[in-house]
Amino acid sequence: MSDAMGRDVIIRGVELSKRYRLGKDNYVDALRCATLDIMRGEMAAIMGPSGSGKSTFMHIAGCLDTPDSGEVWMDGERIDSLSGQELVQIRRAKIGFIFQGFNLIPTLSAEENVALAAEYAGLSRSRALMRGRELLEVVGLGDRMRHVPSELSGGQQQRVAIARALVNDPSIVMGDEPTGDLDTTTSAEIVAMMRRVNAERGTTFLIVTHNPEVAEACDRTVTMRDGVVVDHGDGRPIPDAAASQAEVANSTDDKETANA
Ligand code: ADP
Repeated sequence: MSDAMGRDVIIRGVELSKRYRLGKDNYVDALRCATLDIMRGEMAAIMGPSGSGKSTFMHIAGCLDTPDSGEVWMDGERIDSLSGQELVQIRRAKIGFIFQGFNLIPTLSAEENVALAAEYAGLSRSRALMRGRELLEVVGLGDRMRHVPSELSGGQQQRVAIARALVNDPSIVMGDEPTGDLDTTTSAEIVAMMRRVNAERGTTFLIVTHNPEVAEACDRTVTMRDGVVVDHGDGRPIPDAAASQAEVANSTDDKETANA
């Protein structure tokens, strides 16, 4: 599947809407007709104010959730109406996740944390441990394999989590604020490491971040606002619907500012 410029699209979201109901008459429109392509092999950042729909978009693109309306395509296959079990299979085969809080198992060593994910993916214990060691070398942690998370710095723990995300050789790794808990220097090291993995293995990265330096290190920065994409970060015009939604969002902000 390619876009109008002939680029290879790995994930396409078309006019995605998602409403969360909070009560009988109360709801939040997390996505309001959001349209976004992620290109194969790119490293893309998504920025935008809190509550603008970044995580919701990522969860839908990552087969963790489904939209109320709109289309989601992955590798040319339409996936928005697949069953939960089918989405699990796509997720296992194609997607790796990294989180702000690392989400490592505290009682397992670095190599065991990565190996466990490899075992879930079907490798035998011994092959999984081999795979774990191999990936820890890739992320520069070859000398810390036997350490448990509490014996590792935040940056080192995130490296373990990235090694774990790479276990199935995913087409895309998605990170929700992956450097949110790290200091500036460590954050820059982690992003540089992701850039290296991107260049060497061709893994696509999609990173939600509040950190402009992280976004700067990516190939482009997508901006979301009030449930729509208002800037694709590559000079592409935004659809009319998104533009008018953004205007609504802007005028709402103006009102809030005026009232403040
Ligand atoms: P961002 O990642 O940009 O901070 P989110 O996608 O997490 O934004 O959330 C968008 C909006 O949807 C927010 O107003 C948030 O409160 C709401 N929201 C997200 N997830 C849920 C949920 N599970 N239940 C109810 N509201 C939600």
